[in-house]
Amino acid sequence: MDLTEHFQRVGLSLFVAFKALSINETPVACILVSKKSSKVISIGYNDTNRSLNGTRHAEFIAIDYILDNVEDTFPVDDLILYVTVEPCIMCASALKQVGIQCVVYGCGNDRFGGNGTVLSLHENNYGIIPGILRTEAIQLLRNFYIQENESAPDPKIKKNKELENKLYPEMDYGKYMNESEFIKIYGLERLNSTYINKKEITPVIGKGYRVSDLVSLDDVMGMPGLENMYSRDKKCSGPMTREAVAQDLDSFYRMFYAVDDEGDVTFGTHIKIIGSENKIEFIKEGSDRDTNEVKEPIENGVEKKRRKLSNEGHLH
Ligand SMILES: [Zn+2]
Repeated sequence: MDLTEHFQRVGLSLFVAFKALSINETPVACILVSKKSSKVISIGYNDTNRSLNGTRHAEFIAIDYILDNVEDTFPVDDLILYVTVEPCIMCASALKQVGIQCVVYGCGNDRFGGNGTVLSLHENNYGIIPGILRTEAIQLLRNFYIQENESAPDPKIKKNKELENKLYPEMDYGKYMNESEFIKIYGLERLNSTYINKKEITPVIGKGYRVSDLVSLDDVMGMPGLENMYSRDKKCSGPMTREAVAQDLDSFYRMFYAVDDEGDVTFGTHIKIIGSENKIEFIKEGSDRDTNEVKEPIENGVEKKRRKLSNEGHLH
């Protein structure tokens, strides 16, 4: 079963989350896509810091955008939500009321997840497809937390070490669905690798990927509402021009480790991180290679080891 389209769409949400990070918001974001037209109808990102309102979650922003800008679309019975982090209980409940058809998300929300982790508010209401770009969603959150705790004398080195050594929690799909539900969504071929052995899901079975394979400049430019984020981003890119977005995309691609054919994260590829002044910097030696070269065969088992990260998908 080819999941490339889901990856591309969560990839767009991931880019919005990346922009949220550069305007000092928690990097959690979503897009709403019309099932019938396959078009992105709206985007949303965590807006709690600017608004000083703890309920301004990405999902609410995306729904409000439709209410304000898209006429005759409500009730939205053909919308699919693609979001980087599992919706919280409040949002999961709101999505039910809105009549969402399906929620595709990256990492679980350990404290507040309303789509399978803490509560399962989708049951008998809408479908869920978890685990799409899961480690990438966590990597963005890690950047946010490190940025928050900026006090070390040499934060750059500390940051890099922290990112490399933290471990990913495994996703236990059995908690979210039974085997036959899993097979229906992800395909029988992934049962062994992901449901049982808890490897990361890749868009195409048995093939690794990089985020740069999934998110294109044209797709990013085509998202409605993104210019509002650019006008908020005074320090970085300024207005939303094609050049500014291309530049951001380049930084965005370099933030993430590639995932190999077996579903393991390839640590040791280069990475960029956002520093205390919202600047994107290279951290690793030799990290400025062309993004096309990111995916390299792993020489030995050392870098290929699956790492674990303490639960950081919780701030939502
Ligand atoms: Zn929420």
